[in-house]
Amino acid sequence: MEHVTRRETTPVRIGAVAIGGTHPIAVQSMTTTPTEDVAATMAQVLRLAAAGCEIVRVAVPHPKAVRALPALVAECPMPLVADIHFRADCALGAIEAGAAKIRINPGNMEPDAFLRVLDAAGARGIAVRIGVNSGSVPMDLIEAFGGPTPDALVEAAARYVAVAERRGFTSIVLSLKSSDTLCNLRAYRRAADRFPYPLHIGVTEAGDADYGRIKSAAGLGGLLLDGIGDTIRISLVGDPVKEIEAAYDLLKATGRRILTPEIVACPTCARRGIDVEAIVAEVKAALKDLRAPLRIAICGCVVNGPGEAREADLGIAGGGGEGVLFRRGKTLMKVPESKLVETLVAEARKLAQE
Ligand code: SF4
Repeated sequence: MEHVTRRETTPVRIGAVAIGGTHPIAVQSMTTTPTEDVAATMAQVLRLAAAGCEIVRVAVPHPKAVRALPALVAECPMPLVADIHFRADCALGAIEAGAAKIRINPGNMEPDAFLRVLDAAGARGIAVRIGVNSGSVPMDLIEAFGGPTPDALVEAAARYVAVAERRGFTSIVLSLKSSDTLCNLRAYRRAADRFPYPLHIGVTEAGDADYGRIKSAAGLGGLLLDGIGDTIRISLVGDPVKEIEAAYDLLKATGRRILTPEIVACPTCARRGIDVEAIVAEVKAALKDLRAPLRIAICGCVVNGPGEAREADLGIAGGGGEGVLFRRGKTLMKVPESKLVETLVAEARKLAQE
């Protein structure tokens, strides 16, 4: 099996979570409730935490949201990031309130306000995510590059990074987002070649839970397979909890972070000898709680089945109402279809223990 070579970045600490370097890619999301509604926001934060979210971002658009931050920071079970646009006073208030990181887009801020935010973050020892967005690239770069191209995004990032470095601030995380997947991909690839700082990857305005997953996979899959990315958010409209599952699925599919079994299956065809769809659904449900990076292959017949199944940790090749069970390339046993799920689940749990 091929393995991804991770691009090296300088580790940065976001509260209790370290990102970059050899640290696992951290999964992020963002709340959708009004931040000043502490009860509703905290309820969403706790649901995100239960789903596996590791860093959460809240929008801080006005002083009312700033005033809610101390209570949120105190109860939040993971690092809380303040998302700021335009208002340096909100950024400074969020830093004072104990946010673990500030996310700003310097393109939306006066230059001296950016410096004040950097100084305050530096004094508190917290990181700043410099977020460049295709919608707010400085006009001179738009003109120089003929639009918000990947190079324009990277040059904008370079400009802000240079300001921060001159100020002695290097606790930097970078993001360069576009809703154009190719622009997004190229901007991040160029940024990975140019900057030592951790990259937060995402596709902005991806869409609803169905299309947004596909669009994010298109925009981020290549990056992850190139070893690029230190934190990730799959931006989906709707309940943010869906973003967490989507992020872990993408990390699993690209082999970048596998926490739970990967269950793959053939698409089935007229040769199918067992009910693959039902078996996949039952095995998935039965192993929902299992935290082990196993690869399980369920194939409908003996044409491609044994080959695929042998390459997995556990595999089934079906045929004639029964299935052959393989374990890491070796044939274990023949099992009637009615016993396939329970046998496979038991073997998966045994393998996870070992
Ligand atoms: S493994 Fe067999 S049943 Fe599944 S798609 Fe291939 S040929 Fe069809």
